[in-house]
Amino acid sequence: MRSAEEKFYRARITHRDEFSAGLWKIRLDPGGPYDFAAGQFATLGVQTPEKLIERAYSIVSSPYEPELELFIELVPGGELTPLLHALRSGAEVSLRKIAKGRFTLDLKSGHKNHLLLSTVTGVAPYMAYLRTLYKDSTENRFPADVHLYLVNAASRSWEFGYHEEIAELASKAPWLTYVPTVSRPYEDTEWRGETGRVEDIIRKYTDRWELSGSDTTGYLCGHPQMIELGKGILLRRGFPKQSLKEEVYWIPPKTLRR
Ligand SMILES: Cc1cc2nc3c(=O)[nH]c(=O)nc-3n(C[C@H](O)[C@H](O)[C@H](O)COP(=O)(O)OP(=O)(O)OC[C@H]3O[C@@H](n4cnc5c(N)ncnc54)[C@H](O)[C@@H]3O)c2cc1C
Repeated sequence: MRSAEEKFYRARITHRDEFSAGLWKIRLDPGGPYDFAAGQFATLGVQTPEKLIERAYSIVSSPYEPELELFIELVPGGELTPLLHALRSGAEVSLRKIAKGRFTLDLKSGHKNHLLLSTVTGVAPYMAYLRTLYKDSTENRFPADVHLYLVNAASRSWEFGYHEEIAELASKAPWLTYVPTVSRPYEDTEWRGETGRVEDIIRKYTDRWELSGSDTTGYLCGHPQMIELGKGILLRRGFPKQSLKEEVYWIPPKTLRR
């Protein structure tokens, strides 16, 4: 059996920013060399007197950045997020040395188009794609013929987290199209952008952007219900199963399942 030292780093929080109540980002000094691909997740943990509590978090930062960035939502009554939420800059967490996950950008299928659908913190792995591709584009490593279409949903616009950064990238990058959408515009009366849940607007945008299963890979990340409904819509739109990738953040308790 591998010792704790072999499996875990003591990572240190170097920055912490609250986007809105219960939605925050942290940057971590991983505490040692940490290899990952854009789209993978890190396993973070907090030691309590009883046990080490660990959860998966998609990595926002690009592998080109020296620190790891994570975008976290507080789950009231959850085991780990209330503990993480209480931690300030300088605090330590455990970090498994090995990043995991296959929710990486599909550059093997030959598809030009990549439709990225997300709810709130589900934008995290897409941020890693965007930051990586943007850096590649400025250093002549950009993969030929790739276009990303990002739809990110939140109840209200202050829950987006990365809206300004993505909008700025989209203004500079001809290979990125961005649609933020707010599902509770009645609670955000200043919002002038798209409204509705991801599943309400997928059909409209796949039609508008002329995305089909033969030239597009679809990605769904975040809320399990968005993923289930969104997948159904894309399958009916003619996307074959193998052109869809998903990262489900949690399993709803049985009583809430439809
Ligand atoms: C591959 C992967 C990547 C992930 N990436 C992120 C990420 O980037 N950011 C992030 O915030 N989370 C992410 N998650 C979710 C994260 O791993 C935890 O499940 C989440 O932070 C809740 O942990 P907890 O211990 O506080 O709650 P738990 O004690 O694990 O859960 C308590 C209850 O809340 C439900 N629940 C869990 N998360 C939510 C939620 N967000 N909203 C509503 N109910 C929920 C659970 O099903 C459970 O019933 C990811 C999960 C996976 C599998």
